[in-house]
Amino acid sequence: GFKMGIVGLPNVGKSTLFNALTRTAAAQAANFPFCTIEPNVGEVAVPDARLDKLAAIAGSKQIIPTRMTFVDIAGLVRGASKGEGLGNQFLANIRECDAIAHVLRCFEDGDITHVEGRIDPVADAETIETELMLADMESIERRLTNLAKKLRGGDQETLDQDRLLKAALAALNEGKPARTVKVDADDERLWRMLQLLTAKPVLYVCNVEESCAANGNSQSDRVAAMARAQGAASVVISARIEEEISQLSDEEATMFLEEMGLHEAGLDRLIKAGYALLGLRTYFTVGPKEARAWTIEAGWLAPRAAGVIHGDFEKGFIRSETIAYDDYIAGNGEAGAKEAGKFRVEGKTYEVKDGDVLHFLFSG
Ligand code: GDP
Repeated sequence: GFKMGIVGLPNVGKSTLFNALTRTAAAQAANFPFCTIEPNVGEVAVPDARLDKLAAIAGSKQIIPTRMTFVDIAGLVRGASKGEGLGNQFLANIRECDAIAHVLRCFEDGDITHVEGRIDPVADAETIETELMLADMESIERRLTNLAKKLRGGDQETLDQDRLLKAALAALNEGKPARTVKVDADDERLWRMLQLLTAKPVLYVCNVEESCAANGNSQSDRVAAMARAQGAASVVISARIEEEISQLSDEEATMFLEEMGLHEAGLDRLIKAGYALLGLRTYFTVGPKEARAWTIEAGWLAPRAAGVIHGDFEKGFIRSETIAYDDYIAGNGEAGAKEAGKFRVEGKTYEVKDGDVLHFLFSG
């Protein structure tokens, strides 16, 4: 599955947010008792209104949303790249994540200490980014030294690794994160395998006081401007409100949100933003037993997408019966879509689209 690491300086609201995310009623209602993999790792249901509509049409007994993993990564402080705080363990945890949700303290509260003694989310973002850049530089230099011994007569992968690491180092030496490096599609797989910390997409999460949850405040505006300049994403959230909402039933939560002038729970926005940030897509399998959402990446072909359900589906893939979401809804189900000529049989080279309703046929 896809993993999002929650990072940030101490006392910015990471744990509050993580707890809210993993306790939310929505996560539980969906037949997914929130599962604690480790105390700081949790799976959450990805909210998707389309799934409910499909299930209603098909009369599905069960609705099973797709999931995303969040990891609460505590211990990042100034000097982490030099082993301060939890240091290396912390960095190893980030390495394993696909993207980073960077929580920034945008709330004033004299009772809660700020490690740097002032509220400045943009400076905090830089503090953390600097640690991650230093850690990347150190690991790249170490890896380049090792590679240097293997370069002569080395295989293509070794040469490619060397080239990509040097490109990343050049950016970092200019004070830019590795995600600013333009990577060819051919290099994409290897680039990801390098697991550079600053190559991971970042979502800035502005934690504001309760009264600013709807529109943010001047600090979150500064973060939004910074994010835009970097081509990164940002969301405004009140971790405290989310914590309260997570203890309510669905109906109570809806009423509470309306009272606060919010259209959607911040956590839903956060999960969706994370999903978008990772370039993820959803396809559906729909039947009387269950309607279920599955996560893939943009560009995946049908066999690989089928493999998310079961390895055998990928190995023995024959074809995929396909109806686009809009066609399924317009036809009020499979039969109607068929009559309208919107039922397609697709083969191994079909690139699965977001919202596709699929039925795989396989041998084996
Ligand atoms: P972490 O160290 O980043 O995990 O931060 P915590 O989630 O433990 O939060 C640190 C303290 O800040 C706790 O006492 C939280 O209740 C408090 N806190 C978190 N979010 C907010 C907020 O939006 N407003 C206020 N006033 N306090 C908050």
